[in-house]
Amino acid sequence: MRVISIPCPHCRHRVRAAKSRTMSDMMKEITYMCQNPDCGHVFVASLEVLRTLSMSATPNPDVRIHVSQHVRNACANQLALFKND
Ligand SMILES: [Zn+2]
Repeated sequence: MRVISIPCPHCRHRVRAAKSRTMSDMMKEITYMCQNPDCGHVFVASLEVLRTLSMSATPNPDVRIHVSQHVRNACANQLALFKND
Protein backbone atom coordinates (compact mmCIF):
# COMPACT_ATOMS: atom_id res chain seq x y z
CA MET A 1 0.00 0.00 0.00
CA ARG A 2 1.24 3.47 -0.86
CA VAL A 3 1.95 5.74 2.10
CA ILE A 4 0.68 9.26 1.59
CA SER A 5 3.05 11.91 2.82
CA ILE A 6 4.17 15.43 2.08
CA PRO A 7 7.73 16.58 1.53
CA CYS A 8 9.58 18.66 4.08
CA PRO A 9 8.20 22.20 3.75
CA HIS A 10 11.73 23.65 4.15
CA CYS A 11 13.95 21.53 1.90
CA ARG A 12 11.37 19.46 -0.08
CA HIS A 13 13.21 16.25 0.95
CA ARG A 14 11.35 13.06 1.88
CA VAL A 15 10.06 12.75 5.43
CA ARG A 16 9.34 9.79 7.70
CA ALA A 17 6.34 9.48 9.99
CA ALA A 18 7.73 9.13 13.52
CA LYS A 19 4.46 8.84 15.43
CA SER A 20 0.78 9.61 15.25
CA ARG A 21 -1.86 10.64 17.72
CA THR A 22 -5.58 10.07 17.24
CA MET A 23 -7.44 13.31 17.97
CA SER A 24 -10.89 11.96 17.03
CA ASP A 25 -12.51 9.42 14.68
CA MET A 26 -12.13 12.13 12.04
CA MET A 27 -8.60 13.37 12.67
CA LYS A 28 -5.05 12.28 13.45
CA GLU A 29 -1.93 14.29 14.04
CA ILE A 30 1.24 12.83 12.54
CA THR A 31 4.77 13.81 13.53
CA TYR A 32 7.14 13.76 10.56
CA MET A 33 10.95 13.87 10.54
CA CYS A 34 12.78 15.19 7.50
CA GLN A 35 15.21 12.60 6.16
CA ASN A 36 17.68 15.23 4.95
CA PRO A 37 20.48 15.20 7.56
CA ASP A 38 21.37 18.80 6.63
CA CYS A 39 17.81 19.92 7.51
CA GLY A 40 16.52 17.90 10.46
CA HIS A 41 13.09 19.53 10.49
CA VAL A 42 10.50 17.77 12.69
CA PHE A 43 6.89 18.86 12.27
CA VAL A 44 3.31 17.86 12.96
CA ALA A 45 0.72 17.54 10.18
CA SER A 46 -2.90 16.51 10.37
CA LEU A 47 -4.84 13.81 8.56
CA GLU A 48 -8.53 14.67 8.54
CA VAL A 49 -11.65 13.20 6.94
CA LEU A 50 -13.02 16.02 4.79
CA ARG A 51 -15.84 14.70 2.60
CA THR A 52 -17.58 11.59 1.33
CA LEU A 53 -17.09 10.52 -2.30
CA SER A 54 -19.09 7.29 -2.07
CA MET A 55 -21.71 6.62 0.61
CA SER A 56 -21.06 3.92 3.22
CA ALA A 57 -23.24 0.82 3.12
CA THR A 58 -22.92 0.65 6.93
CA PRO A 59 -23.16 4.28 8.04
CA ASN A 60 -22.51 5.20 11.67
CA PRO A 61 -25.33 7.53 12.74
CA ASP A 62 -22.94 9.40 15.04
CA VAL A 63 -20.59 10.30 12.17
CA ARG A 64 -21.20 13.50 10.23
CA ILE A 65 -19.10 13.93 7.10
CA HIS A 66 -19.67 16.53 4.42
CA VAL A 67 -20.88 14.91 1.19
CA SER A 68 -19.08 15.93 -1.99
CA GLN A 69 -21.10 18.11 -4.38
CA HIS A 70 -20.98 15.53 -7.19
CA VAL A 71 -22.51 12.90 -4.86
CA ARG A 72 -25.29 15.34 -3.87
CA ASN A 73 -25.93 16.06 -7.54
CA ALA A 74 -26.08 12.34 -8.35
CA CYS A 75 -28.54 11.73 -5.48
CA ALA A 76 -30.69 14.67 -6.60
CA ASN A 77 -30.77 13.26 -10.13
CA GLN A 78 -31.82 9.83 -8.82
CA LEU A 79 -34.57 11.36 -6.67
CA ALA A 80 -35.81 13.39 -9.65
CA LEU A 81 -36.38 10.12 -11.50
CA PHE A 82 -38.82 8.99 -8.78
CA LYS A 83 -40.70 12.31 -8.87
CA ASN A 84 -41.36 11.88 -12.58
CA ASP A 85 -42.93 8.42 -12.12
ZN1 LIG B 1 13.91 19.22 5.40
